[in-house]
Amino acid sequence: MTFLNRLEEFKELLPEEVQLLAVSKGHSASSIRHLANQGQLDFGESRFQEAKSKIRLLNDLSQIRWHFIGHIQANKVRGVVQVFDVIHSVDSLSLAQRISRISGEEGRIPQIMFQVKLRDDPSKGGFDSQDLLSNWTLLRNLPNILILGLMTIPPIHLNERQRKDLFEDCRNLANQLRLKDCSMGMSRDWEEAVEAGSTWIRIGSLLFGDRVGKDLIS
Ligand SMILES: *Cc1c(COP(=O)(O)O)cnc(C)c1O
Repeated sequence: MTFLNRLEEFKELLPEEVQLLAVSKGHSASSIRHLANQGQLDFGESRFQEAKSKIRLLNDLSQIRWHFIGHIQANKVRGVVQVFDVIHSVDSLSLAQRISRISGEEGRIPQIMFQVKLRDDPSKGGFDSQDLLSNWTLLRNLPNILILGLMTIPPIHLNERQRKDLFEDCRNLANQLRLKDCSMGMSRDWEEAVEAGSTWIRIGSLLFGDRVGKDLIS
């Protein structure tokens, strides 16, 4: 069972300060349109090529805000900056610098989150806290970007308590840097993330059902 036809019901479960990002990777443009017709305006995609064709099909829905949440290869930065309003997955200093430079060239000012890796996880990228802190002066002074906050994804093997601790660490780090937003929490762990102070939950399968075709988690 999903909330595809019951968006309002799901949103009623969320505290007012928590925003819902509908993660539409692996789902069709028509499913996105279906949610948009119920008032959902923020959609997250993690693969550039897939996103680009859907965004073209949904061109008439100009109120939609597109969020990029996947790993960004250097040669995709320009494309991402051209079409996405928010980038949650800025996972290195060099990527941040590249986004800043290309945004300047494109006359864009994307909103960004820095992806942080707060526990060992070979399958994920991200700043570790020390990296983020030691580069902070450099990062916060980059032109042509608007820094909103931090994004994190817990390693798959953590239990509920460990995930909650991780989410709290992310919230504390964001507070330390005086950042308002934490993008954390997915279909299986959004409640712990919200308790820990998430401001953006990224929900895919709970809204849309299982992803069609290959699983596009990245
Ligand atoms: C796929 C994905 C999600 C959504 O995952 P669900 O378990 O389907 O809710 C959230 N964040 C990122 C970065 C993703 O890649």
